[in-house]
Amino acid sequence: MVNKDSQVVTFVIDKEIDIKNHFIALNAYKQAKGRGIIYNKEDISEALLLLKSDDEIRIQIEKTIEQYYKQDKKLQSLADDINKEWIKIEKDVIQKLEGIHKFPFPYKSVKGVLSSANSYGYNTQECWFATSMRGNKFLCIDVATHELMHFMFHKYYEKICYDKGLNKDQIWHVKESFSVLLNIEFKEFRFQSDNGKNSPTHIKLREIIKNSWEKCNDFSKCLDEAIAYIKNN
Ligand SMILES: [Zn+2]
Repeated sequence: MVNKDSQVVTFVIDKEIDIKNHFIALNAYKQAKGRGIIYNKEDISEALLLLKSDDEIRIQIEKTIEQYYKQDKKLQSLADDINKEWIKIEKDVIQKLEGIHKFPFPYKSVKGVLSSANSYGYNTQECWFATSMRGNKFLCIDVATHELMHFMFHKYYEKICYDKGLNKDQIWHVKESFSVLLNIEFKEFRFQSDNGKNSPTHIKLREIIKNSWEKCNDFSKCLDEAIAYIKNN
């Protein structure tokens, strides 16, 4: 059993961050349409996009999520369940992340916030990622492994991408595609496989990263190959 004080990721209830995640989710929905990612049309998101200001959107989000926050004991019980499951594997997950990226995990404390939204954002500066309030505990842990890979990518590899001339959008495609490594390296921790984004660019990038990884187990090499592809497509 891991000592609770040394737990790096703690799953928590935090309504303010949940609301922030709703805004991130809405923005991601809007951007995905622009990026040509195939998204199912979400009536709730479409309705929010019709509102005129962030204040109006916030009021609407608060109304929608109120039902959950009235049940604080249940929410805390959900968070407790996830933490109990997570502490069994946290050390090994972090070790795996460090091994793959060849760098130490850079954060001492990260919040895994149970969100009522349908997609999961994060903020590396504020040290949190969102995970599901409505999925099971194993799905929450699947999301954690995905987001923590992003934390490593931003810390150690994002600057390399900019230096090599990629723009923000291209970096996003590359970063997301790297989650294909979860299906190779994190099987023992995960309940479901990571499907990635449904677009031809992502499918191709994931194939490139997977092949390169299986050949040489070298994150930097995978990144070079992914960068070469995205620059020319
Ligand atoms: Zn992601």
